[in-house]
Amino acid sequence: MIPNTPEIITPSSNHKAGFVSIIGRPNVGKSTLMNVLVGERLSIITSKAQTTRHRIFGIVSGEEFQIVYSDTPGLIRDPQYKLHESMMRFVHASLEDADVVLYLVDVREPELEEHIVKRIQLAETPIILVLNKCDLSTDEVIKERIAHFTLVLPNAIIIPVSALKKERTGEVFDLLLAKMPVHPPYYEKDELTDRSERFFAGEIIREKILTNYKQEIPYSSEVVITEFKEKPEILVIRADIYVERVTQRSILIGHNGESIKKLGIEARESLTAFFGKKIFLETHVKVEPDWRNKPHKLNHFGYNN
Ligand code: GDP
Ligand code: MG
Repeated sequence: MIPNTPEIITPSSNHKAGFVSIIGRPNVGKSTLMNVLVGERLSIITSKAQTTRHRIFGIVSGEEFQIVYSDTPGLIRDPQYKLHESMMRFVHASLEDADVVLYLVDVREPELEEHIVKRIQLAETPIILVLNKCDLSTDEVIKERIAHFTLVLPNAIIIPVSALKKERTGEVFDLLLAKMPVHPPYYEKDELTDRSERFFAGEIIREKILTNYKQEIPYSSEVVITEFKEKPEILVIRADIYVERVTQRSILIGHNGESIKKLGIEARESLTAFFGKKIFLETHVKVEPDWRNKPHKLNHFGYNN
């Protein structure tokens, strides 16, 4: 899907649209918050895996707005990179590309990350500092954090939330919307939801490839969802994982199929959590030499349309 140009869609002059990046350490609740933000206000989730610079997680559109939640490919495409460096590259990219950065921290942590704070202070991108997991803290501690972080990041808007309990997450959305620039929509507003669900299924499997294998494999793999069938009791998902060489196929499958089995178990767990449904998952690993350089294959994978 190619971003719309203003000539194709003529929205009202007040239409707001922009990109939001969520940054923060692992485990602070980024995915949880993202799901709430995308889910609660869901009208459309997009189906496109990659733009040149962003990895799109979800698009929430209304008549007068479109918020594109994204991640940059750098972070996920570099699983071997040391966490710190990888995160800083992500922070850099986010501050350059995003219209708003959501900086998420665990409210129980007394200090912000110094290197992130330094980088943020140099940027003009609006920052919303989200103090998450407030359900695990006390009013006193929350107040203390707000007072302290206001001094550390005077330009940030600070909001305490519980992503898990969906407390004050609506306000996060309102703050984001307030910060969105006036801009025509970047993507079409009438995407079909089932396409997007397929997309998320593919992304979840891709994520497990990234976390389970070393660099070469994720770079050389592509996931294609071949079946996505909703039944009353179960969601049936079949996926082909394409690699470029026979040796990569062996690595992906592993000794006695153990690696692919582990991948399947983890993917099924995440898919169950995401879709809130029992999942039947079947994966096939296929070799497609040099798929990245073959235009028809790329088309098939959805990169060109
Ligand atoms: P990520 O690594 O930053 O994406 O973090 P996740 O969204 O995967 O969350 C990590 C863990 O923290 C999960 O077990 C979540 O259920 C939990 N979590 C996320 N937000 C909250 C919250 O507001 N309160 C509590 N108690 N737990 C949360
Ligand atoms: Mg996460």
